[in-house]
Amino acid sequence: MTIKIDLHCHTTHSDGALTPEEIVLRAQQMQVDVLAITDHDTVSGVAHAQAAIDKHNIKLKLIAGVELSTSWHGFDIHILGFNVDIQHNVFLGNLQDQMLERDERAKRICDKLAKCGVVDVYQDALRHANGAQISRNHIAQVLVERQICSSFQQAFTKYLGKGKRAYTTPKWIDIETAIKWIVEAGGQAVIAHPSHYDMSTKWLRRLTSEFKQLGGDGMEITHPNMSPQTKSLLLDIAKDSQLFGSAGSDFHSPGRWTELGKRLQISEQITPIWHDWSVINA
Ligand code: AMP
Ligand code: MN
Ligand code: MN
Ligand code: MN
Repeated sequence: MTIKIDLHCHTTHSDGALTPEEIVLRAQQMQVDVLAITDHDTVSGVAHAQAAIDKHNIKLKLIAGVELSTSWHGFDIHILGFNVDIQHNVFLGNLQDQMLERDERAKRICDKLAKCGVVDVYQDALRHANGAQISRNHIAQVLVERQICSSFQQAFTKYLGKGKRAYTTPKWIDIETAIKWIVEAGGQAVIAHPSHYDMSTKWLRRLTSEFKQLGGDGMEITHPNMSPQTKSLLLDIAKDSQLFGSAGSDFHSPGRWTELGKRLQISEQITPIWHDWSVINA
């Protein structure tokens, strides 16, 4: 019997639509065995998710995770951390600093939107974030709600995506710092969704080899809607860089194309990041 593993999802503690409790209940419904909660730049949802697992007596192994925002040669690279100590004070302080930049960046984006004639977006984005840090997703929600954009996708292609009208270069940490933070907190560092960076294969190889040299552990090599060609390319790149393979849905909300734990099998030709995790091998 194969076990169902999903190592990438978001809750209301960042830009996901479901609370930690709702997400573990959904994981149970989808028969997921191992789930990592990987909110953007925060681990505040993890304890709530574990409490819900205990409360409902769900047979689900929870991995404490995070998705750190980093900048590398002008690309916004996301680095996942697995099995991080969510009570590690230095780590929590580091995340706090990163969240300050998240708030500053949200204000800069809203200033740019105001110059485009779209005013007072910050307050509305705060309402959508509902206590979490503002992500571009929340700002996209405002643009759709006000019927300035017809879809999230359009909000990114017109205003929020790289180089678009309201894009501001984020001052995220570099990948070396992200790896250091994760390793210091006892975790493993993994490159998230390498196929989403709009990057040539040459650059991707440069990223993976640098990441490995800096102490990174793995790379996501599949995604529910990925073509066989892309999967095979990512498998080759991960193997060449001696990175472990990882798999996650990057679930944000229930939708036609997004679900927890679906179509995430990875090739047997690569060692999975979870090969020595006691929760899986127990
Ligand atoms: P941030 O971390 O604030 O930069 O926002 C990044 C988040 O915005 C991602 O995690 C996605 O949830 C969402 N996102 C980024 N690019 C797109 C896009 N092109 N279309 C829809 N959502 C996107
Ligand atoms: Mn997101
Ligand atoms: Mn991401
Ligand atoms: Mn994500």
